[in-house]
Amino acid sequence: MELRLFHYLPRTAVEGPGMRASIQVQGCPIRCAGCAVPQTWPETGGECIDSAVLAARILETPGLEGVTFLGGEPFAQAGALADLGERVRRQGLSVMTFTGYTLGALRARQDEETEALLGVTDLLLAGPFLREARDFSHPWVGSANQRFHFLTPRYAHLAERLTAIPNRLEVRLRPDGRVEINGLAAPEAMRHLIRA
Ligand code: SF4
Repeated sequence: MELRLFHYLPRTAVEGPGMRASIQVQGCPIRCAGCAVPQTWPETGGECIDSAVLAARILETPGLEGVTFLGGEPFAQAGALADLGERVRRQGLSVMTFTGYTLGALRARQDEETEALLGVTDLLLAGPFLREARDFSHPWVGSANQRFHFLTPRYAHLAERLTAIPNRLEVRLRPDGRVEINGLAAPEAMRHLIRA
């Protein structure tokens, strides 16, 4: 199935538990005020890739614990991500999915593709980014309203330990001199890092 991708990071240690592939999709209809990645909003742009091709690429990467779907809005491309998640889970990888919708809103859709993506997700982090509730004290979380849902037992052991996991950033220096930063931090910390 065709997936519209904003950015694929083959290995990252800051987008969920353990070493993961990060699948950042293009397109978000939610458009939260203060979103850090408005360049992912348009439903056009990015790069199209077949979910089976991307799954094969992920499975060739050694040492991965799982994949993380983020955006953009993963549930705007639920069918293709469910297919990708199913393929990598068959080989033992875990799936973490970020969404700007609440779990209740997703369940209320009663939509087959939405349920399929929920069905392959081990750990869901749900809720829009609310600028007035900005809070970076929990791992991978941007605002205090966002909720973790342990949809399978795979990461249930983290429920009691979440506050001990810090938010972290990764900085990559590319051969062409570009600097790439991913992960989550307060905007002031990010600005300080960019200046440095
Ligand atoms: S759901 Fe995520 S990507 Fe979409 S606008 Fe909100 S913060 Fe940005």
